[in-house]
Amino acid sequence: METIPLVQASLGEQELAAVAEVFASGWPAGQGPWGKALEAELAERYGVGDAVALSNCGAALHLSLLTLGVAPGDEVIVADYTFPAPAHAVRYVGAEPVFADVRADTGTIDPRAVAELVGPRTVGVIAVDTVGLPADYTELRAITDRHGLFLVEDAACAVGATYQGRQAGELAPLACLSFHGRKGATSGEGGALLAADPAHGATARFRASFGIGSIFDQSRVVGLPVPVFEEIGYNYKLSDIAAAILRVQLGRIGELLERRRAVAARYEELLADEELLTVPWVPEDRTHAWQSYMVKLDPSVDREGVAADLRAQGIGCGHGTWACHLQPVYESKRSCPVSADLFHRNLAVPMHAELTADQVERTVEVLRGALRAHARPRGGRRVG
Ligand SMILES: *Cc1c(COP(=O)(O)O)cnc(C)c1O
Repeated sequence: METIPLVQASLGEQELAAVAEVFASGWPAGQGPWGKALEAELAERYGVGDAVALSNCGAALHLSLLTLGVAPGDEVIVADYTFPAPAHAVRYVGAEPVFADVRADTGTIDPRAVAELVGPRTVGVIAVDTVGLPADYTELRAITDRHGLFLVEDAACAVGATYQGRQAGELAPLACLSFHGRKGATSGEGGALLAADPAHGATARFRASFGIGSIFDQSRVVGLPVPVFEEIGYNYKLSDIAAAILRVQLGRIGELLERRRAVAARYEELLADEELLTVPWVPEDRTHAWQSYMVKLDPSVDREGVAADLRAQGIGCGHGTWACHLQPVYESKRSCPVSADLFHRNLAVPMHAELTADQVERTVEVLRGALRAHARPRGGRRVG
């Protein structure tokens, strides 16, 4: 039986060749020639003041909050329906994440919920481009500007997406990207911080290297300068091996995204008349990077049963992403009913750039069968 994985990275010969070049250069660690070249390319691509290559997006979120001076006692409003990295980052700096519910139709942070949650201790908002779909930045920026709050964009899944003609990653003064193996462009693990203000980028880069400048740069200085530590920094550097892979991946992003778009378009076409689920909706003013393809199952459908059937047929699937406020670690007393509903009803089906048309068709066929097998009868009549 052919298996169809839920996710698959598109890494091949070009990336291998780039790695071989790094091996030959003798500088595999971070903040060397490949890291610098990647940073320059990212800054240019996004038209930002500075881009900092980092070990992952979690590190980018942490450095963002440090750069913005978030401290214990502060509250940061975060999108609820997401991988919980934004709320974790708020906790790293000893502040309190306040979970904002999301829009039912897009899964992105609901600006009305944000407006209601602003209080005396609120210092900022972290919006998430949910599995690749940008949030409502026009509305969000109006709120943050009105209250003098910062806005951070978690664009972990959204490389290549757009909002009102601008790229995800340039929709807030600080934006965080992920290059984890399950995202659209990857180096296995990896991330970046994009900063409108070059001073923010410089501070973050310094803190990402234990609180000293680039060791690569120091190794080239004539004489014996001994760096001085004046701050407890972290080691959040991206290796030059990963940077070399990412330069290739970013060059391919248009092609990879096109393939994901074709998969999404085919799912939509094949599932348009399926009454036991809803396909994702993309508002006219934005485009999706399709990190995941999540369908919302009808309340009458037993999701676990459907997932078990898909997996038994070799088809990967998952729950999608999380309702953060329900995670025990946060001990949140707030309720986000829309996010909770998506958390319980969404089902992620295979989405990546290596899927073939046949695989998409087989997935849909098995999914349709599984929905019928696991739909509880409504109004005394069996569905389907
Ligand atoms: C994947 C993801 C992250 C974490 O990215 P890493 O690079 O693995 O740290 C953060 N935020 C969101 C929204 C994500 O989907």
